[in-house]
Amino acid sequence: MKLFELTRNLMAIPSVSGDEEAVGFFLRDHLESRGWTVELQAVAPGQNNVIAHLNETPRVWLSTHMDTVPPFIAPTEDDERIYGRGSCDAKGIIAAQITAAEHLRSEGIEDIGLLYTVEEERASTGAKIANGHPLAAKCEYLINGEPTDNDLAIGSKGAFRAKIKTKGKAAHSAYPEEGESAIEKLLDILEDLRHTKLPSDEFFGETTVNLATLDGGIALNVIPPMAECGILIRLTTAIEPIRDALETIIRDRGELEIMSYSLPVKMLAVDGFKQKVVRFTTDIPHLPNWGQPLLLGPGSILAAHTKDEFVLKADLEEAVRLYVGLVKQLI
Ligand SMILES: [Zn+2]
Repeated sequence: MKLFELTRNLMAIPSVSGDEEAVGFFLRDHLESRGWTVELQAVAPGQNNVIAHLNETPRVWLSTHMDTVPPFIAPTEDDERIYGRGSCDAKGIIAAQITAAEHLRSEGIEDIGLLYTVEEERASTGAKIANGHPLAAKCEYLINGEPTDNDLAIGSKGAFRAKIKTKGKAAHSAYPEEGESAIEKLLDILEDLRHTKLPSDEFFGETTVNLATLDGGIALNVIPPMAECGILIRLTTAIEPIRDALETIIRDRGELEIMSYSLPVKMLAVDGFKQKVVRFTTDIPHLPNWGQPLLLGPGSILAAHTKDEFVLKADLEEAVRLYVGLVKQLI
């Protein structure tokens, strides 16, 4: 199966996070038919990571995720581009990595493995399970794929997910002095947060905050007894200075509930590749047992997660060359 055809075939199978079973079966069948040893590693009912290799204990692995954000968008194409969900994030990457691996194999290089995870777009549950796989211990280099415009990412920001929650006291809204508004408290906290510069890092850049979701109140004529805001912070430092800054802002007006976080990661710089720091996070913080991480992939993160997601065909072909070159340099 050729590069573009494989990309389209992977994209044609819906695999929004939580629904990756069919695309995993497709990959298993495709790779087994080419002589790879393939294992489906159970993550949850209907969710399996795909772990494939040629020799027994490969030193270099190519990896990315099989899930996509919603909604499914079927693949289409023209002469230059492939459009649709997963084109750049990350099924085009899977196709480019498999094509590169087959190319390396045709030159006698079999010291390679393929790791495709579930749930990267939610909480990297697949990567967390994959981290415990026995083959991880033998892996020296993990080349992860995310859309980096085919540049080698030498750093990626972390992600800190949390809720700021406030409590008030419900009362008839005609008698506000009888109650206490959780929404007004929350708005005060958020206003302070918007005007606070959080600690940042010279290498990784600025720490940014998305006030992502708001929830609160019960009815128009009731003083709201509860409110909460979901936030996602792109982390460039350790977790403690950010947590401390948030707690200083919140004081006794509410509480901070940490949902999950991944730390910023420095990755291997390799001569001859264009390098940069990317602002998004990946599976890499959850795969520490898989050796030294590298990050490179075709397509733009700005096209990922949009309704117009696409990847340039020329970038897919370039990614194959880059993956081949990278593996050869590492081996
Ligand atoms: Zn991705």
